[in-house]
Amino acid sequence: MPLLAAPESGPVIDLGGQHISYTLQRTRRRHTISLLIDERGLRVAAPLKAPQRAIDDLLRLHAVWVIRKVRDWQQKRPPPLSWVSGAQIMLYGAPVTLEAYAGIKLPQLQQDRLLFDPQLAPTAIESGVRHWLKQQALPCFTGHCRDYSAQLDLPAPAVRLSNARTRWGSCHANGRISMNWRLVQAPMAWISYVAAHEVAHLRQMNHSPAFWHAVAALVPDYAERRAALRREAHRYLLL
Ligand SMILES: [Zn+2]
Repeated sequence: MPLLAAPESGPVIDLGGQHISYTLQRTRRRHTISLLIDERGLRVAAPLKAPQRAIDDLLRLHAVWVIRKVRDWQQKRPPPLSWVSGAQIMLYGAPVTLEAYAGIKLPQLQQDRLLFDPQLAPTAIESGVRHWLKQQALPCFTGHCRDYSAQLDLPAPAVRLSNARTRWGSCHANGRISMNWRLVQAPMAWISYVAAHEVAHLRQMNHSPAFWHAVAALVPDYAERRAALRREAHRYLLL
């Protein structure tokens, strides 16, 4: 009886002999139960007081879909990164190899290698590398947003990093832009598309034709970049 790996340790249901584990999120605002597969696996969103039986019934009703989608997710998912010398991370769409290097205190990029202190434990390497990626992300994102806002004759927006799991960027009514630090792993063309998208929201706080017109003025081939980002997003949301 195959056991399908858990997205996290969560509830498990037996669907026709397949043990499917999922993450259950209960929220007050929700009125219906819904099933979703994202980069972390199967998620069930349910109202606060939905009985477990109703959740089980829905999963059984959609068993074929659930099993197929969970299998796809498992096949698509790269193996978890082990934080040791030789491991590979991505920066601006290009691979960077982690390398323990005597005498290095803070992570340091040398061409396609990121050198780190050999005395660090894997957890410290992981947090050091995440921190380092965020340090690369902020000036890169800020620079793109500044350039695009200048092209639209707008003042440079305040940009900050977000830690969202499902969104690449957002633009607040107060003019502040947030961009997901994980995007720094993706190709520059996608980073600039997200920046252009959020900057265009400073003009149009909606997704109207006028909004897309502003995006196209900044990034003429935005549609291809947007499609590629949607298709490949799961690869960059794992860290
Ligand atoms: Zn938008």
